[in-house]
Order: sequence, then C-alpha cells, then structure tokens
Amino acid sequence: MPDMAPRSDQERLAPADNRAMSLATARQHLGDVVLGRDKHQRVRASQTLLALGVFLVCAGVQQLEVWLGLMDQAASNWLTLYNLSVSLGFYGLIRSGLNLRLAGDTSLTLPQIASAMVSIIWSYAITGPARGAILSILILVILFSMFRLPPGQVRLLAWGGFGALAAVMGWRALGDAQHYDPRVEMLHFVFAAIVMSATAVLALRLGRLRARLSAQKAELSQALELNRQLATRDMLTGLLNRRAMVELLAQEQPRQRRAGGPMSLALLDIDWFKRINDSHGHQIGDAVLQRFSELARQQLRAGDALARWGGEEFLLLMPASSAADAAHVIRRVRDSIANGDFGTLAPGLRVSFSAGVSECGPGEGYAEAIERADQALYRAKSAGRDRVECA
Ligand code: GH3
Ligand code: MG
Ligand code: MG
Repeated sequence: MPDMAPRSDQERLAPADNRAMSLATARQHLGDVVLGRDKHQRVRASQTLLALGVFLVCAGVQQLEVWLGLMDQAASNWLTLYNLSVSLGFYGLIRSGLNLRLAGDTSLTLPQIASAMVSIIWSYAITGPARGAILSILILVILFSMFRLPPGQVRLLAWGGFGALAAVMGWRALGDAQHYDPRVEMLHFVFAAIVMSATAVLALRLGRLRARLSAQKAELSQALELNRQLATRDMLTGLLNRRAMVELLAQEQPRQRRAGGPMSLALLDIDWFKRINDSHGHQIGDAVLQRFSELARQQLRAGDALARWGGEEFLLLMPASSAADAAHVIRRVRDSIANGDFGTLAPGLRVSFSAGVSECGPGEGYAEAIERADQALYRAKSAGRDRVECA
C-alpha cells in the first residue's frame, strides 16, 4: 500500500530550496543575535553599527593621512579609540535595553550626534593641513540632526559645536601657527559662522514644517476614524448600520460553520411605533429609538451584535446560540424595555416590541434565516404583539 502520510514542507522541497531556507534561517538567527528581536530596537542597534562602520572607514582615512605625513600616529590612534569605544558603547546600551529606561529620547539621538560632533572637532584639531574638509562633515552631521531632533536641540548643537570649534581654532592658531595659519583659521571661522547661522534658520523652518505635518497627520487619522464610524454606525442610535451588519454576517457565518455550533438571528420590531410618532411627535419617536437601542444593548452578551435594520426594526446576531438561548436573551431585553421608564419621554408612554427568532440551519445562508425570522415576527405581530416567536 502506498504511503499516504502527508509529508512536511521541508521534505517536499528540492535540496536547493532546502539550502536557501536554512541559509535564510541562519541569517535571521544571526540578525536576532546581533540586533535583537524588537523591531524598534533593531533599527536603533543597526544605526549604531552603521556609525561604527563609518568610524572604521574614517580610521582608514586617518591612517592614510598618517602615512602621507599629515597627521601624528598617536593622535590618530587616540581619536580612533574614542570613536570606536563611543559607538560600541551606544551599541551596548541599546542592545542591553538600557536605553529603554531613559525617559524621552530612547533612540539616544542627541547624545550620539553630540559625541559625533566632539569627534569631528577633535579631528579638526589633529588633521593639520587637510582640516578644511572636516568642516563639511560637521555640516553633514548638523543637517542629519535636523531630521531627527527638535529645532531647539539642533540650534543648541549647532551653536555649541560652533563655540567648541572656534575655541579649537583659536587654541591651534595661537599654539601651532606653523600648521594652523591664523589667517586660514580666520577664514574657516567666518565660513563656519555663516554656515551655522544658516543652519539655525533652516532648523527653525524645518521644525515648523514637521509640526505642521504631524498636525495634519493627526487630523487625517481623526477624519479616517470619523469616516469609519459614519460608514458602519447608525447616526441616530449608534448601533451598527445595515451595511455593517451584512458584512458582519458574511464574516461570522463561515466562522460559525467551522466551529460547528448553532447561530441564531432575531428581528425585533417596536410595536405600534407609528402611533408613538403620531401621538407624541417625531422627536419623541427618535428618543424612543435611542432609549430602546441603549436598553437592548445593555442586555446583550459579549459576541452578540445588534444593528438598526430599518426604521424601527433591529437585527440581533447571536453567535454560538441555539434558538432557545436567543429567546432567553430576547426575553431579558423585553423585561428591560418594559421597565424602561419611557414615561419620562412622554407622559403615559409605554413601549413594547415583537420578535422573530431563527436558528441558522446547517448549510443555510443567513438571508434565508432572516427570512424565516421575519415570518416568525409576522406571526408574533398577528398573535397580538409584545411576544417572541421562534421559526
Ligand atoms: P407594528 O406594530 O405593526 O410594527 O406597527 P408600527 O406602527 O410600529 O409599524 P409601521 O411600519 O406601520 O410604522 C413604522 C413607523 O416608523 C413609520 C415611520 O414613520 C417610523 N419611522 C421610521 N424611521 C423612523 C425614525 O428614524 N424616526 C422616527 N421618529 N420614526 C421613524
Ligand atoms: Mg413596528
Ligand atoms: Mg416595522
């Protein structure tokens, strides 16, 4: 007899697919070890590793400068040591989760950018003749900070960095005029002052733009939520509207079939509602619909759903309920409506409803079940109203 046992995906795959799968698993495993599993922490950790990579490249460039005789080996080594230990330190902070204990800036953006600026200014102090290029990296870091930090912090960084750079320029020009020509330092200073002032203005504008964008985003999600409410809720009663109930039925019925249990539907129709309108006015009629909905909703169990099916007619969906369970719930609603104090809306006003219940048969569509509930409702009306009939 042939072996009919179902084979696992792993067995059915070709050897090449198998290798690709285990490679992907190994990559994912390595990613989990290096970056962690949390989505946000992974982004933060990968950024610190990116910074580490950039500093390694910088170390290479510095070494080239040393070989070209432009930089002192020991000075270069100290700077590289600082760069690597700072970026490894931030990586460790994030990977251990210590950053999450900090209130506010859990990405550690401000300290990371500030320590990068320290590195750049330090580099300016030891790079000698090629130091002009360092200024462009400083601008790059400040530009980057504009996208990540509030404008106040960007200005603080820009002016703090500028002050520190000016101090280094003065110190080097006075102490080592041979390598740091005071005239060149003067020009670098003016150039840096222009760039920093422009940066401060740009940071302010970008901050305003970001604030406007995030306000617009909040308005948009509010509008979306309102739209969703309008599309699925009945305005007067706040219950599901007919369209939402049809969607819910289409989702619920297959689920109920898979689960194998019963599911019941009921149509509830307020008795003599036209008379209520005629005797007390349309506004009182509306208030009756609202109170009726509220009282009925309070009696439902978790999982039951009530919709306004039409004028003064409501459809109740009761998953995992037999017709007897459903009739029990409806009798509870009936008691609650009978004691609903409708007299406070109009003197002497009493409200009742009739209901038709149908249990969905196996393989029966919900439209047929609603039709049977409607027939049961008709019988309840004919039999004198204020009663429940099962189909
Ligand atoms: P029955 O006991 O046979 O159900 O009688 P009924 O008067 O309740 O039923 P009928 O269908 O004759 O009247 C229903 C009334 O409900 C007619 C309609 O004007 C009113 N109606 C429908 N929608 C609303 C609404 O949103 N607000 C108000 N105030 N009345 C409504
Ligand atoms: Mg009615
Ligand atoms: Mg009706």
